[in-house]
Amino acid sequence: MQSTKKDIRALSLEALQEFFSQRGEKAFRGKQVYQWLWNKGVHDFNAMTNLSKATRAFLDEHFTINHIAVDQQQRSQDGTIKNAIQLYDGKVVESVLIPVKDRTTACVSSQVGCSLDCRFCATAKLARMRNLNADEIFDQVVAIDQQSRVYFGRPLSNIVYMGMGEPLMNYNNVLASIEKITSTKGLGMSPKRITLSTSGIPKLIRKMAEDQVRFNLAVSLHSAVQETREQIMPFCTKFPLTDLLDALRFWYEKTKSVITYEYVVWKGINDDMVHIKALVDFCKKVPSKVNLIEYNPIGEDDFKQASLEAIEQYQEYLTASRIPNSVRRSRGKDIDAACGQLANKAKGE
Ligand code: SAH
Repeated sequence: MQSTKKDIRALSLEALQEFFSQRGEKAFRGKQVYQWLWNKGVHDFNAMTNLSKATRAFLDEHFTINHIAVDQQQRSQDGTIKNAIQLYDGKVVESVLIPVKDRTTACVSSQVGCSLDCRFCATAKLARMRNLNADEIFDQVVAIDQQSRVYFGRPLSNIVYMGMGEPLMNYNNVLASIEKITSTKGLGMSPKRITLSTSGIPKLIRKMAEDQVRFNLAVSLHSAVQETREQIMPFCTKFPLTDLLDALRFWYEKTKSVITYEYVVWKGINDDMVHIKALVDFCKKVPSKVNLIEYNPIGEDDFKQASLEAIEQYQEYLTASRIPNSVRRSRGKDIDAACGQLANKAKGE
């Protein structure tokens, strides 16, 4: 429920300390509250047991803790769990827990809907309704960590920003969420276990490099031929591959972090030698690796998974040029939890 009280999680550590000082209490109370919020992930002032009852009641009177609720859970035969997440204003996004051997990966959403128009993606069919706040992204991670402990007996190990939305179009909140996840005052996870996936917005890739981020970058390339890319991702008319490449060069110079290209091979779209050679050339420009991902049909007739031979041909040419590559099988397909399938279908929205 939306509350008229101020969301305490909008306050920085400094602001919380200031708040307590002004009340004549010790500033370290602010640090204690911060730890409850961002290190332990609690959603209730009453759970903050190292504060006096009076302080807890006072906080409750003045603040709220807006938080997500896992509204519905679907489990795939392969162990993948898809969550429908109810936000404080009633909107819904999805997050996915993907168990792989001894690891658990959380795939989180960054926007309600998406403003981009990738023709092969189910989320793109939903208009962008709003950006998620940092805490709404953080909460998805905490919820999946809890699920991982309950169902698989281990904590969450990796996070991918590959759910609904374009993370770079919600730059500040996405980076703030990563700060809370990686900071020692927050969950303390290594940024090397986090991957942000973007459709490739050059200006914002540069900004991340300038901001010296330490997480991994994945770019949804799908074609290194400009005309083809524009056909399947129409917004790319504004972002030519030459600009993308410049931005990626800059990223590598600043971060020394190898880029992952996500790439789906479709029949009659990019399954020929022209596209294979273009990809190999593109990959040679900046240290990178390629994830060839399986297409998850979303009911678009124009898009069909390419043949196995075409995918093998891609692998052959990439490997011959010493470009690391792998074929990533879809997970959670039976519950529409795979890449590009997140569209709040279960709720019929
Ligand atoms: N907006 C971001 C993150 C969300 S999409 C991005 O574009 O990277 C996560 C990945 O799934 C992207 O690589 C995207 O291109 C891919 N994807 C989208 N629809 C897909 C589909 N139907 N099948 C397989 N992959 C898909």
